Amino acid sequence: MSTKEHIVVLGGGESGYGAALLAKRNGYPVFLSDGGTLKDKYKQRLQAENISFEEGGHTEEKVLQAGLVIKSPGIPEKATIVKSIRAKNIPLISEVEWAYRFCKGKVIAITGSNGKTTTTMLTHHILKNAQLDVAMVGNIGDSFAASVAEKDHDYYVLEVSSFQLDDITSFKPHIAILTNITPDHLDRYDYKMENYARSKFAIGRYQDEKDYFIYTLDDPETLNYFEEHKPHSHMLPISLEKQVEEGAFTDEQNNIQINLKNQEAMSINELALQGKHNAYNSMAAGLAGKLLGIRKEVIRESLAGFESIEHRLEPVLQVYGIEFINDSKATNVNSTWYALESMQKPTIWIVGGVDKGNDYSQLHKLVKEKVKAIVCLGVDNTKLHAEFEEMVPFMIDAADMDEAVRISYKLGTKDDAVLLSPCCASFDLFENYEDRGRQFKAAVRRL
Ligand code: ADP
Repeated sequence: MSTKEHIVVLGGGESGYGAALLAKRNGYPVFLSDGGTLKDKYKQRLQAENISFEEGGHTEEKVLQAGLVIKSPGIPEKATIVKSIRAKNIPLISEVEWAYRFCKGKVIAITGSNGKTTTTMLTHHILKNAQLDVAMVGNIGDSFAASVAEKDHDYYVLEVSSFQLDDITSFKPHIAILTNITPDHLDRYDYKMENYARSKFAIGRYQDEKDYFIYTLDDPETLNYFEEHKPHSHMLPISLEKQVEEGAFTDEQNNIQINLKNQEAMSINELALQGKHNAYNSMAAGLAGKLLGIRKEVIRESLAGFESIEHRLEPVLQVYGIEFINDSKATNVNSTWYALESMQKPTIWIVGGVDKGNDYSQLHKLVKEKVKAIVCLGVDNTKLHAEFEEMVPFMIDAADMDEAVRISYKLGTKDDAVLLSPCCASFDLFENYEDRGRQFKAAVRRL
């Protein structure tokens, strides 16, 4: 008879499936329970792996038999089933924690409000170019657990959300990157910024002095909570504003400098990804590469040769000299700030969607400086009009993406740019931000 504890996985999406698979492969009795409907692909995989499951509700008696519960990040703490598990004091962890317990490779983990995916992809690109055996996991592609279940890798570059960090008990990445902290998902944190910040800093909570923690020195919210949550690892700041002794910064020539004790300094003067935010992302990724002993040339070539990522300041087409840029992933004010900041041409800005309580005032200066027209693309654009009407020469509503693109094109002249950077969630008119970005690109191609 197995002496291994009985595992119950709550939620059967990418990470829940991965967690169950990892349990099964390691000989644990496992049961997966999903309150909603499972996607066919996961159902088929669970059946193929002989993992028992239920969907459309949680059977309490079954769930509460668990010796250990692994909770998917989408399930909030206030869900009834989670409350029952807590009441019975059954240990509950996240999929990231579970995967980490079996992982033999080195983990480079990336969290933050914005820039996670970009930094993860840049870091992975550097490691891959250095011929290392590396998997890119987490919110991108396979879950960490599924990857660990399938094969051991020497390195894992892991994109991790604050929800996954909420239920860790030993997860200790060798290199942690905290890109920045800006208000997002505050609904899951009792609308308290300190709770959200605490969960972001958890990425370094179990690190020790042999590990590294890369953070942005220019980010005010990171600094606000820094002293309170500072990990025990080796701190490496990155900055575009100050020179740092150890870490990464830009010199007078605007080249990136990476300095580490006992290592030759290196400089980088060409980045494929434009914009200040991408300078931060590139610095963090470059620094991680340098910490792993990757050659300067490889780091430089990787950062200079990186191809743009879909929906993140992605160049689409030039039509009669008007450049179209897809930044559909910008679903909050901070990310749109960086997009507008990086614009070098007079800009026609397509904005709007579901407003998550945005404070647009941070954008005023950039809008006045760079934007020649605004095209609103949301069901309700009242707030946008009230905010920006007086600031730009032209502002108009569009009913759908096709119309938004056609209007923008008409408003544009040679050497202008049309930027889709909505600042808002997409679900009033689109399935998700990918759908929104793809519709934008298709509409541009139809011009
Ligand atoms: P995440 O995975 O954290 O959502 P992404 O890399 O997908 O981050 O980028 C999301 C949006 O945020 C994009 O629109 C991008 O232009 C912007 N962005 C990327 N990196 C940063 C950064 N370091 N700081 C602020 N905004 C950023």
